[in-house]
Amino acid sequence: MSTSRTGADSRDELREQISAAGIEIDVSGRRLQEYSYDASNYRVPPLAVVFPQSVQDVAAVVRACAATNTALTSRGGGTSMAGNAVGPGVVLDFSRYMNKILDVDLKAGIADVQPGVVLADLAAHVEQVSSARLTFAPDPSSKNRATVGGSVANDACGNHSVRYGRTSDHIWELDLVTADGSRLTATNDGVHATDPDDAVSAARAATITDDLTQLVHKHLAAFRLELGRIQRQVVGLPPGEPAARKRLRRRPSPSRLGRHLRRGGGGEDEAGTQAGKRAAAVCRVQRRSRRSTRPRSDSGV
Ligand SMILES: Cc1cc2nc3c(=O)[nH]c(=O)nc-3n(C[C@H](O)[C@H](O)[C@H](O)COP(=O)(O)OP(=O)(O)OC[C@H]3O[C@@H](n4cnc5c(N)ncnc54)[C@H](O)[C@@H]3O)c2cc1C
Repeated sequence: MSTSRTGADSRDELREQISAAGIEIDVSGRRLQEYSYDASNYRVPPLAVVFPQSVQDVAAVVRACAATNTALTSRGGGTSMAGNAVGPGVVLDFSRYMNKILDVDLKAGIADVQPGVVLADLAAHVEQVSSARLTFAPDPSSKNRATVGGSVANDACGNHSVRYGRTSDHIWELDLVTADGSRLTATNDGVHATDPDDAVSAARAATITDDLTQLVHKHLAAFRLELGRIQRQVVGLPPGEPAARKRLRRRPSPSRLGRHLRRGGGGEDEAGTQAGKRAAAVCRVQRRSRRSTRPRSDSGV
């Protein structure tokens, strides 16, 4: 949840910019009330609610928010319980239009989806087209409302995560829009411009890669010792914070990043990629999901 607020001038400018781009923006009192809450106890009325229909819309909104110094909060099903999906600026609702399953490659076990797809819909579709051979495994109890975008951001898990892993274990590739409107794609090989001919985004990808590499070098010891001691570590940890260190030591369960760093060899590259998924992900606009082999009838954990 971010905290900046705009003045009246920049608010008008923001609305003008978004409307001029032909993007649906709603500032009605009713809509602002509806989006002032999620499944948490927090209530934060936004300035506006925007319903993007394409990646281009997302990039335009992100740029408008950056230009007017307006907070931006992405939102899927709004089922977060810690105020994750409410914010004082623009709320970008992916669930209304950007909710399509674009492709399912049964051979590769990869689905190409927009971020507003509801988890249960994705799982049902994959099960249907694969004759119940494949599914999308992450299954939080909120799965009939929760979307892929929100589940990536929260690294959602669920009843079967002990056996089949969390959402982060099922991501093949993420298309990202950064705060300056650059379009990047994050894979296990690193972050690169989604369109190789897009020089601005390529430069941004290079900067992010450099910054992350430096970050890893600077905090390598802390990353090796502290990261991944709890399984679902979706926020950073001040390396020197003693209470947190003590808590973490109780669960020696290394994450992929932690494991890789401990193994050594190419650690900087993978660390850069993993951190990049979080650092650069202003919006996750499209993703492919790795194959999940859970049979249709849940066999328990
Ligand atoms: C009854 C109930 C049961 C639950 N059970 C579980 C459970 O078993 N396991 C579990 O892990 N969680 C659970 N949750 C928490 C929550 O439902 C999940 O984490 C869920 O995956 C969130 O998805 P969402 O689409 O509702 O995300 P939202 O709440 O809309 O958003 C979550 C976060 O993702 C960000 N976000 C959303 N879309 C995008 C995007 N396109 N790009 C970038 N960021 C984005 C938002 O800004 C926010 O920070 C439960 C919640 C409830 C209310």
